Amino acid sequence: MKIHALTTKEVFRSLVTSGQGLSEEETERRLHEFGLNEISEVKRKNLPARLLDQFTHFLALVLLFAAGLSFLSEYLRPGEGMLTLGIAILAVVFINALFTFIQEYRAEKALDALKKLLPFFVTVIRQGRERELPARHVVPGDLILLTEGCKVPADARLITTADLKVNHAPLTGESEPVLRNHEPYQGEFAESPNIVFAGTTVVSGSGKAIAFATGMGTEFGRIAHLTSSIDAGLSPLQKELAKATRIAAGIAAAVGLFFFVLGFLIGRSFWDNFIFGVGITVALIPEGMLPTVTLALAMGSQRMAKRKALIKTLTSVETLGSVTVICTDKTGTLTQNDMTATTVWADNSICEISDTLPEAAQDVMRAALLCNNARVIDGNYKGDPTETALLKAARKVLDDMPAERLFEIPFDADRKMMTTVNTVAGRCFIFSKGALEKILSLCTHILIQGSRQTLDENNRKHVFETYHALMDKGLRVLAFAQKRPENQGPKDSWNKEIETNMTFLGLIGLHDPPRPEVPEAVEKCRQAGIRIIMITGDAGRTAAAIAREINLVHGAPFVIEGQELEQMSDGTLRKTLSEQETIFARMAPKHKMRVVSLLKEEGEVVAVTGDGVNDAPALRKADIGISMGIAGTDVAKEASDIVLLDDNFATIVNAVEEGRTVYENIKKFLTYILASNIPEAVPYLAYILLRIPLPLTIMQILAVDLGTDMLPALALASEKPTPGIMKKPPRKRTERLLSAPLIARAYLFLGPIEAVACMFGFFWVLAGSGWAWGTATVLNDPLYIQATTACLTAIIITQTANVFACRSRDESFFSTGFFSNRLIFLGIAVELLLQLFIVYHPLGNRIFSTAPLSPEAWLVLVPFAFVLFFAEETRKFIFRRMKT
Ligand code: ATP
Repeated sequence: MKIHALTTKEVFRSLVTSGQGLSEEETERRLHEFGLNEISEVKRKNLPARLLDQFTHFLALVLLFAAGLSFLSEYLRPGEGMLTLGIAILAVVFINALFTFIQEYRAEKALDALKKLLPFFVTVIRQGRERELPARHVVPGDLILLTEGCKVPADARLITTADLKVNHAPLTGESEPVLRNHEPYQGEFAESPNIVFAGTTVVSGSGKAIAFATGMGTEFGRIAHLTSSIDAGLSPLQKELAKATRIAAGIAAAVGLFFFVLGFLIGRSFWDNFIFGVGITVALIPEGMLPTVTLALAMGSQRMAKRKALIKTLTSVETLGSVTVICTDKTGTLTQNDMTATTVWADNSICEISDTLPEAAQDVMRAALLCNNARVIDGNYKGDPTETALLKAARKVLDDMPAERLFEIPFDADRKMMTTVNTVAGRCFIFSKGALEKILSLCTHILIQGSRQTLDENNRKHVFETYHALMDKGLRVLAFAQKRPENQGPKDSWNKEIETNMTFLGLIGLHDPPRPEVPEAVEKCRQAGIRIIMITGDAGRTAAAIAREINLVHGAPFVIEGQELEQMSDGTLRKTLSEQETIFARMAPKHKMRVVSLLKEEGEVVAVTGDGVNDAPALRKADIGISMGIAGTDVAKEASDIVLLDDNFATIVNAVEEGRTVYENIKKFLTYILASNIPEAVPYLAYILLRIPLPLTIMQILAVDLGTDMLPALALASEKPTPGIMKKPPRKRTERLLSAPLIARAYLFLGPIEAVACMFGFFWVLAGSGWAWGTATVLNDPLYIQATTACLTAIIITQTANVFACRSRDESFFSTGFFSNRLIFLGIAVELLLQLFIVYHPLGNRIFSTAPLSPEAWLVLVPFAFVLFFAEETRKFIFRRMKT
């Protein structure tokens, strides 16, 4: 018989388990037999294959073709230097491939490590006790508890259900939730309503189910096996850079071709022109730029993880930096989610919750105890913090009572209430709890001095006055009602209609203090030009009181409640948002979605927090969806881009700071790398236009691009956040990474200074030995070799100063903290060692066609580093003055 057609008893028998769940020994055994409950990852390409990929992309193929041509010409016309060129080009391809491969590998490893930080837990019953364990440890036969928002860990057969609705979208693409039940079903297995599948999520209600397939044995596992892994895709920044790299490569090729043709016009030989054209193309291609950016993003996400923000997609790192509005909920994010029920109001009297309470207050506590889904597992309270606080308070006040839950209409963020049917000492009670407006609208009576009296206008007024007074203290207030059904009809017919003619019992106030770090984070956002909009399910007055406590608002903010929002046109809402400090209270998830959409239409970059199932659409809609790692449901975590491991608002602000830093750092190292392109290109121009010997060889250019520049660039990528970074307004959506000011600074200011230095070095050495204009030099002339060495040395020396200049765009080096980035010094040390090797070691001399320089040469070149450094300081000074 198929599992869906069996009765509960038969299910237990066929999976050799019971209502008490499996024993620990048995689960051990089954874990051994069936393996961990996980989908084995679709195999990535193996390392050699991935390394090979680096040689087969377009750019690599072009270069390999050029190398092939060089070898061919060496064969046809030996001794013209084509062999060196061929080898040099091959070296470029190899070094670039290896570098890209290593960077990507490291970035990938970093992201894998981050993924592991987010385990996925489930609650099961084993040996009669509830246990929370990682979903990977679920075995066939396990009795799983399903609650709203959780992800189903295995294919399982339901044995009890309470209004259980499941979203099958991951399996079928159908996003409408489907109602499940636990009755045996005689139809097709795939359509059976008593089966839940791994990977789907519980949208509402609750239930218990017995797992019958785990890991690759589940439906999801089978599908995963068929499809390949989802391509993470490139982030907009990476796309922008890939485009920039392609454009740069295109320009390089065009420039190469231009010089090739120009050479003919001025009467050079074909091979001279060929070497030259290929050389300049290779020199201008920005090798290594893309992988360095990827690595910078990955390093950024690692730093964010250390600060408790887990980035799920690399894209988010940069988007975070441009956030202009944060829509945040209150409970748990701005507040500690450490609730304590402090006050109870019943029968016209208010009291602090203590061991001895008047009878009317005890009635309220009884409703709080029984209309409650929090549980005590191994002495620890588990469940929703509101309910946990109520359970704790009620257990303190009430004696144990024989009670049983018969039926439940679960809590729903739209209805803002829940209802249960219980028997207490053999008598049937219906209890409801939730937002006062909802509860009171269901009540016709109120309990006064132990008797049930009609609820009149006076009573209502009084209830609301107390409610407002409690909320103004920042308390979260829940209302309670009950009913003693005379004749409720059969259980099958129970539904929301049982929530009528109820008797109002009273209110409980819960205290949830703000997180201590939040006021500072709020201030930081204010300085950073980021607006914070509170969107909470809680009531307006509580929200406003908390907002005042954390300095989010001063005085009386404009509070819009859910119902008002529904009446409001988009135009009015827009106007209100732009003119006033606004708080959104009593918001249902659909309202949140509307606010987010509107803000996005206004051109804002919106980050939104959410924890519930219904928050998923808003999390997806936002530019950055942020879910809560502790209190969030699996659904919210899946829909979000970032998971806050500590649920803390201040963490969002830290992540924004990191996001801004990553972006700034990428700009810093791009300026650094691009600047050296100019002193690399000018010697070639001079060679053609001034008809002088070639001042810099291709190998020497590569020594800079793929050697000495690399580590300092990486060091710039790991700069710490600068003090002013959260004092600037967010960057504009339209701002490009390779912006005009960046290109101007690199190409028209820093680059030219370096170019002057390198050309000066070249001529200084040549002139010192009596060289005159128009004199031909031979390639192996020691004088010529020394002159090119001086040219190369000048570039490296000025780049050393440039690292310091690039640490900040506007701030003086002297205010950036000399030792705040030690990697810079390591980078420079390696750069200089490499340079010494190139200039003084025989092997370096052989590879790069260099010769040792005299001490005077250094004395002549080093001042250029100071020239560059102080020119930048002056520019920054003028820039700062102009800004103020
Ligand atoms: P935020 O959206 O800022 O996190 P919240 O957690 O208060 O705020 P919801 O959980 O949607 O938002 O709660 C909204 C309202 O629903 C609460 O103010 C309360 O009146 C009611 N409520 C919350 N939890 C429960 C519950 N477990 N049972 C009954 N009613 C509840």
